[in-house]
Amino acid sequence: MLKPDDATIGILGGGQLGRMLALAAARLGFKCHIFSPSPDSPAFDVVHRVTCADYTDTGALDRFAADVDVITYEFENVPAETATFLSARRPVIPDPNILAITQDRLTEKNFVNDLGIRTARFASVDSAAELGRTLDTFGRPAVLKTRRFGYDGKGQIILRDGADLETALERACLEAAWRDIGAQPSILEAFVPFQCEVSVVAARAQDGTVECFDITENEHRDHILKISRVPANVSSAVAAEARHIAETIAGAFNYVGVFAVEMFVVDEGSKQTLLVNEIAPRVHNSGHWTIDGATVSQFEQHIRAVAGWPLGKPMRHGRIEMINLIGREVKTYEQWLAVPGAFVHLYGKAAVRDGRKMGHVTRIVGEAR
Ligand code: AMP
Repeated sequence: MLKPDDATIGILGGGQLGRMLALAAARLGFKCHIFSPSPDSPAFDVVHRVTCADYTDTGALDRFAADVDVITYEFENVPAETATFLSARRPVIPDPNILAITQDRLTEKNFVNDLGIRTARFASVDSAAELGRTLDTFGRPAVLKTRRFGYDGKGQIILRDGADLETALERACLEAAWRDIGAQPSILEAFVPFQCEVSVVAARAQDGTVECFDITENEHRDHILKISRVPANVSSAVAAEARHIAETIAGAFNYVGVFAVEMFVVDEGSKQTLLVNEIAPRVHNSGHWTIDGATVSQFEQHIRAVAGWPLGKPMRHGRIEMINLIGREVKTYEQWLAVPGAFVHLYGKAAVRDGRKMGHVTRIVGEAR
């Protein structure tokens, strides 16, 4: 167990997740050192020790490792070589091998299916011709996604009902889609006509104990999370299945820390079932409500797990909504300040850009149920 008075936690990545992790760590008495390549990282503003260097700068990585007791990350696209380099010097939690699996949609989905957990039907596609053949088998609509570096809908294209596959126009469309995605290793996924999207945010401690937060229902706009509602409007059987899926995945990874599993709820005649869409091996936007809406937040759970502490038992304060302030919506924060039961969080990002997560608001909207 790390002792807060003399331990420093290293965090790779300097976005809002790193910022909220560092704030939670400070509350428990830990110091944090943030490593991020970007000079205007929101997490830099809340800690004393920062390294602004590229993830490939081995000198900077060496000095960073020497300054910290344990290393974690807020961002899953940290290059695998960086995590491996650091893990030779300090414990890196969660394990870098998990990063390698979850950075690639194909290996991630194969991993999930091998555990007997369902996903949308998918296949790897490596050329426009292969895309055409797979689309023939899957039918439309279908979703083309890059295997790596996709987030918030980036690196994905929906192929909707269109012309006959035999026409020249159709072939040109497929070539264009393949070019748009960057002509890179990808997967094609069957489109899921889901009832809703949910996620389980959970923590696993070093002794294997798992604590799940209540299942969250997530509404996306333009592929970006807009609102999370807790509890999700699903049956207790579906909620139990979602928790079971999260625990199975975490156990199989021998995971330590907080992670999220995003799932689609689908209606299969007489019952609802779950298909896993994505695993995030880190704290997650759909868990932000836990800061104000639960007795222990996802950020504190992650710090506890990384430090070898026991996890907290999360209890929810009521029915909760978390609303992301995206791009110019950040300007509405003054109105939110006057709303009873609303907690305003701003990430301190100077540049407002469309689609950029600038802050969030958590609201307690009713009694717990
Ligand atoms: P992803 O980047 O895979 O997390 O996808 C972002 C969002 O796109 C999801 O939260 C869904 O709203 C939507 N989406 C992704 N894959 C599919 C699919 N196979 N079927 C329907 N919607 C999808």
